[in-house]
Amino acid sequence: MKRIAVYPGSFDPVTRGHLDIIKRSSEIFDELIVAVISNPAKKSFFSIEQRLQLLKDTLNFKNVAVKSFEGLLVNFMEKEHAKIIVRGLRAVSDFEYEFQMALTNRKINPEIETVFLASDEKWTYLSSTLVKEIALYGGRIECFVTDNVEHAIRNKVESVNKSKE
Ligand code: ADP
Repeated sequence: MKRIAVYPGSFDPVTRGHLDIIKRSSEIFDELIVAVISNPAKKSFFSIEQRLQLLKDTLNFKNVAVKSFEGLLVNFMEKEHAKIIVRGLRAVSDFEYEFQMALTNRKINPEIETVFLASDEKWTYLSSTLVKEIALYGGRIECFVTDNVEHAIRNKVESVNKSKE
């Protein structure tokens, strides 16, 4: 049986930390679905279409697909015949929320297992939020994201700043 894993997140936008987890997962599982959460009630920096596109433009693995989902992750997983959730762990601060989510998902569907991976230590402090904040204040972000993502962030920051004028 194929081991299909799902890596869910907001990916707003994808960072080198996410890419590290994706690469590691693609080597462990037969198939990986990067599942981008679409939550119309929550305001994101990039639209769901942009977040998907940035991931698709960045990724080049034979066994990795990019999809979006709304609602419960376990429902999406059932549809995709996936039983494994991949999450990245950074600091201890991630642990409590991740532990709660893993146990809740298992309660909803006991067949689902959550697997935690540690990214390279270079990225353990990195988050999309941090990258956006640095960019908004004019800082350099090229070491945290790929070129296409850097471009997209710069364009977005420019349009945000223009709309304030
Ligand atoms: P963010 O907190 O960056 O907005 P997401 O919701 O997109 O993150 O995160 C999806 C998953 O990727 C989560 O499990 C998160 O812990 C993990 N992740 C994000 N950045 C990193 C990183 N730098 N190293 C390891 N895991 C990460």
